[in-house]
Amino acid sequence: MEKKLAFNTGSSVVTRRCQVCNSEKLEPIIFLGYMPPVNQMHPIGSVPDEQPSYPAQVVSCQNCSLVQLGLTVDPKILFPYEYPYTSSTTKILRDNFAELYQECSKIIKLGKDDLVIDIGSNDGNLLSNFTKHKVLGITPEEIGKLAIEKGIPTIIDYFTTKVAEQVIKEHGKAKIVTATNVFAHIENINQITEDVVSLLADDGVFISESHYLKPLVETLQYDTVYHEHLRYYSLHSLKFLLEKHGLEVFHAKGIPTHGGSIRVYAARKGTYKAKDTVKKMLDAEKKTILDRKKLKEFKERVVMSKLELYSLLKDIKAEGKRIYGISAPSRASTLINYVGIDDGIVDAVMEIKGSHKIGRYVPGTLIPVLEESALYEDQPEYALVFSWHIADELIPKIRSKGFKGKFIVPLPRPRIV
Ligand SMILES: [Zn+2]
Repeated sequence: MEKKLAFNTGSSVVTRRCQVCNSEKLEPIIFLGYMPPVNQMHPIGSVPDEQPSYPAQVVSCQNCSLVQLGLTVDPKILFPYEYPYTSSTTKILRDNFAELYQECSKIIKLGKDDLVIDIGSNDGNLLSNFTKHKVLGITPEEIGKLAIEKGIPTIIDYFTTKVAEQVIKEHGKAKIVTATNVFAHIENINQITEDVVSLLADDGVFISESHYLKPLVETLQYDTVYHEHLRYYSLHSLKFLLEKHGLEVFHAKGIPTHGGSIRVYAARKGTYKAKDTVKKMLDAEKKTILDRKKLKEFKERVVMSKLELYSLLKDIKAEGKRIYGISAPSRASTLINYVGIDDGIVDAVMEIKGSHKIGRYVPGTLIPVLEESALYEDQPEYALVFSWHIADELIPKIRSKGFKGKFIVPLPRPRIV
């Protein structure tokens, strides 16, 4: 059956069959309600008008175990050309890509004429580590121009079959293809995987990094559920997908980015000897996220966490204290809309100078996003850390800049620091 795609429809498509294996056996895990698109932020002072919102239900495939979103929104709505996300701004990401380079140059024999292609290359953060080799970035965002300025050849376009064919014609096949934090985002995942395989030289290696379902479930990262993230991978579901397209996973490990991700190495069957990391990770998943009971408990724990946060905020507001939010990443939008935080609870959300989000409202609310200096001038009694997954990096920094109040870390269980 031909699958209806959301791309270019200006609308959305309900997931009635598994995005990878086409099975109809999809079991609901949790429904977070209707969410506004996280990149549509209205200017401060504008009167609320009609806005789209999309249901956010997470479902699990009983056939291939893929956990996925129950709805696909047209990527043109979610990723406008001026999509402002720059990956180099996060230290954890920069360190991770440096470590990726160290690791893969030990595993893969990489010559100076070997081509490394990064899909979803953004501002060239990953490829900037591969300067001793031939590199090529592919990214749909305008930010790709920054990479070009840094000397990293970049195709500014969506990764499609046509683009893959063009790349092979002009640059040849690749020794390494990387896709970090994009494998969950692209709609037609089987086609994309097929196109990745077509880019690989016979002994080529595909390295993917995706947000990992295990920490998501264990540390209640329901706030990473938004419409950009169509799939929440386990090693089981990634292995299923890659094997379907003739690739064999030969190494896998957990990495710290985005609150916990998974890095997977795959190549054509038999090219590389499988490390024992693969079996170990698969075994660990069987006892946790593959257990349907554990997924059911996840929902119960998320609900309790929401109520606890709400109750904590209620006590603070009852004392007449002020709460400012710290940083407005996409995940803040999910947390705010799911928990039901409005501008009566959180006065404003802080972003660092230069952020394009400053001067706008958090999606679905009238909470203004202001420059960080407001936090130090106004000294609210509490700061709610929406980037809680990097709280350890963030809190000392904000403290050293002179904030005297207390911090609220909202997840996994709300706590005051
Ligand atoms: Zn499936």
